[in-house]
Amino acid sequence: MSTTEKHAFQAEIAQLLDLVIHSLYTDKEIFVRELISNAADASEKLKFLQTSGTEVFEPELPLKISVSTDGQAKTITFTDTGIGMTHGELIDNLGTIAHSGSKAFLEQLKANKDDANLIGQFGVGFYSAFMVAEKVTVYTRSYQPGESGWVWSSDGRTGYEIDAASDLSRGTKIVVQLKDTEFAQASNIERIIKHYSNFVPFPIELNGNAV
Ligand code: ADP
Ligand code: MG
Repeated sequence: MSTTEKHAFQAEIAQLLDLVIHSLYTDKEIFVRELISNAADASEKLKFLQTSGTEVFEPELPLKISVSTDGQAKTITFTDTGIGMTHGELIDNLGTIAHSGSKAFLEQLKANKDDANLIGQFGVGFYSAFMVAEKVTVYTRSYQPGESGWVWSSDGRTGYEIDAASDLSRGTKIVVQLKDTEFAQASNIERIIKHYSNFVPFPIELNGNAV
């Protein structure tokens, strides 16, 4: 018996994704910065909860961000041990436009039609992954002790699916199935991380080695 739930994106997200996927914006590598910045935000929130005495799932799990590439599978994966997301948070955070960056992007875009540079200026956050992705899969497990794991996936076109996922550690793992191998090359990713993410206050590993 399948437990897969199918969801449509909120209209504004569908509009945003259509622009992101069909944009002529060339600095597609910024998706690495955006996903690492989200991992760092999630880690910062976990750290804050722990210092303020909140009980968290897997309290001994160290805060770090791991990136791995697989040229054969054409994937790049971003893993953090931050706050993770509940089922409701997945729907709110990845399916609606509540957050600021993308909202500002869409507003600006209405004024400057089809300006691909706006993607770089605003950073379309999580959705920037769809510039390079065939499919994005998000495995996530909230820090809240009573929660369980979920897997969210989307091709950025037809909406998204959510399923239950068992045995996940705290935090979030995002697997980006790439359109081409450029972003599955470790040396290229190392350069991008050093260029954009050198002030991230958590350790970053690439294929198991410190960056
Ligand atoms: P922003 O970072 O500006 O809020 P994003 O599009 O980058 O916008 O991310 C949307 C939301 O999705 C975030 O605000 C956060 O709530 C959630 N999110 C994204 N990535 C992660 C992650 N790795 N761990 C936990 N939550 C995440
Ligand atoms: Mg972000």
